[in-house]
Amino acid sequence: MKNMKDIRQTLREQVSSDRFKYKLIIYSITMVHVVLLVLFNFLHIWPMVVVNIGSVAVYMKCIGIIKSGEEHEMIKVFYMTYWEIIIHSFIATICVGWWFGFPQYIIGLIPFGYYMCATLLEGKRRYMIATALGLIAALSFIACRSLSLFAGAIFPLELPVAAELLIYIFNSVCNFVFLFMVTVIFVWDMQRITLQLRSQNVALDTMASIDPLTGLYNRRSMQDFFYRVLKAEIDFSLIMCDIDNFKRVNDSYGHDFGDVVLKEIAHIAQQQMKDKGYVCRWGGEEILILSTDSLDHTCEAAERIRHDVEEHVFRCRGKELHCTLTLGVAGHRAGTIIEDTIKHADNRLYHGKQNGKNLVVTPYNSQ
Ligand code: GH3
Ligand code: MG
Ligand code: MG
Repeated sequence: MKNMKDIRQTLREQVSSDRFKYKLIIYSITMVHVVLLVLFNFLHIWPMVVVNIGSVAVYMKCIGIIKSGEEHEMIKVFYMTYWEIIIHSFIATICVGWWFGFPQYIIGLIPFGYYMCATLLEGKRRYMIATALGLIAALSFIACRSLSLFAGAIFPLELPVAAELLIYIFNSVCNFVFLFMVTVIFVWDMQRITLQLRSQNVALDTMASIDPLTGLYNRRSMQDFFYRVLKAEIDFSLIMCDIDNFKRVNDSYGHDFGDVVLKEIAHIAQQQMKDKGYVCRWGGEEILILSTDSLDHTCEAAERIRHDVEEHVFRCRGKELHCTLTLGVAGHRAGTIIEDTIKHADNRLYHGKQNGKNLVVTPYNSQ
């Protein structure tokens, strides 16, 4: 339940952070248009005043979509922004000429287009659409220049050079800020996705290596641990454990109670081994322990596990039960074959079962 809650919370955070991103871009562009509206009003270039009022209205509509819209509505916001910037640059160039730098905004549409298409559309077609829009943007930029060269400006401004430069610098700064914003958002998104993938990998790794019932390592993980200790060529020991008369537990108390017994015995083994080895569910109700401690200490640990299980009272749905465990211990010497060591531990476990169960059979007492 907690995991589902966490996932929902993460999704909610992601959607709201995406909204924040789009709002940041659209609010910034709206602010630029408000400044241009004031500027053209001051310069008495009425067509550009009207165009900028229209632009602000377009972006108000975009903000409305972002606030209330679904994720798929965001593509509308992108298309509206894209065409507004191209149309605005064209009209501004026709009205006042090339030198004020309005067509620069078109350049920013290329990375912006790729970013928006990659995040909002699906499949290969998103790159085709982004490329097509990028080409349209590049052609529009060249067309603006050609148009201003051949047709000139409808409202040629008699401004001092400093004022002309100031408007050019304003447009350049806005365009660079826009490019920085798109780049930073892109890098930030990449980092977020990388972190998400990393944590998903950790979760998948855990799922692949841990037995869900007991929380012990599974057999696959034990093979990895074998590989590691064999490669390091160190001596180690194995303890093979099997619950005594477990079928009877299941038959008399039910499978649920059997699961409780299995889980609690797994916990006892884990507590005894702590950082001295790996405890794994080898199969059914068999537990295999790889101990990196000395053989003597491993035999003592096995005896403590047997003792703790014997003393433990298992409880489930108001019923109580005592259970015992038989364990076989075998030492592994570097250079010998692991399958032989497992077989020795298994044989000693079998020996314990044959001799009354609830026993630890070690190389010292197995003769
Ligand atoms: P012994 O003392 O000789 O070991 O007798 P036993 O009855 O324990 O015999 P055995 O080891 O062959 O029993 C295996 C039983 O373990 C059979 C199966 O029903 C039970 N078992 C295996 N996995 C699980 C599990 O995940 N949960 C439960 N409840 N029982 C399991
Ligand atoms: Mg068994
Ligand atoms: Mg058994």
